[in-house]
Amino acid sequence: MTNDCLFCAIAAGEIPSKKVYEDELCLAFYDIAPQAPVHFLVIPKAHIPSVAGVNSANSAVVAHIFEVIAHVSRELGLESYRVVSNIGDQAGQTVHHLHFHVLSGRDMTWPPG
Ligand code: AMP
Ligand code: ZN
Repeated sequence: MTNDCLFCAIAAGEIPSKKVYEDELCLAFYDIAPQAPVHFLVIPKAHIPSVAGVNSANSAVVAHIFEVIAHVSRELGLESYRVVSNIGDQAGQTVHHLHFHVLSGRDMTWPPG
């Protein structure tokens, strides 16, 4: 738990969230400002600042998160979806705790803006 980290507080249950899935390693919850009809986030419970902070000591949780993304998306009946992680200010990262956006339910453009 890192002080002053919003997603650490959500992972600890100190700030409420609309949970989709939870286990001992990660939490999935709906984004407060959805950018698609379905938009949830998957975070590790342990604080990692972004993809740039993934290393050989903590990368197992990333593989686990992708299993969870596949599982939850299947459970929600999503046939097509996009997984996004923003790293750094220029890419649009606003919360500095690793998270993967899962967006679905509308046509999407490529490349992303
Ligand atoms: P990013 O801009 O990639 O760092 O993504 C952060 C995401 O967190 C944004 O899509 C926000 O809408 C979302 N967000 C911020 N606060 C909350 C919250 N309390 N509950 C759920 N999602 C949140
Ligand atoms: Zn954190």
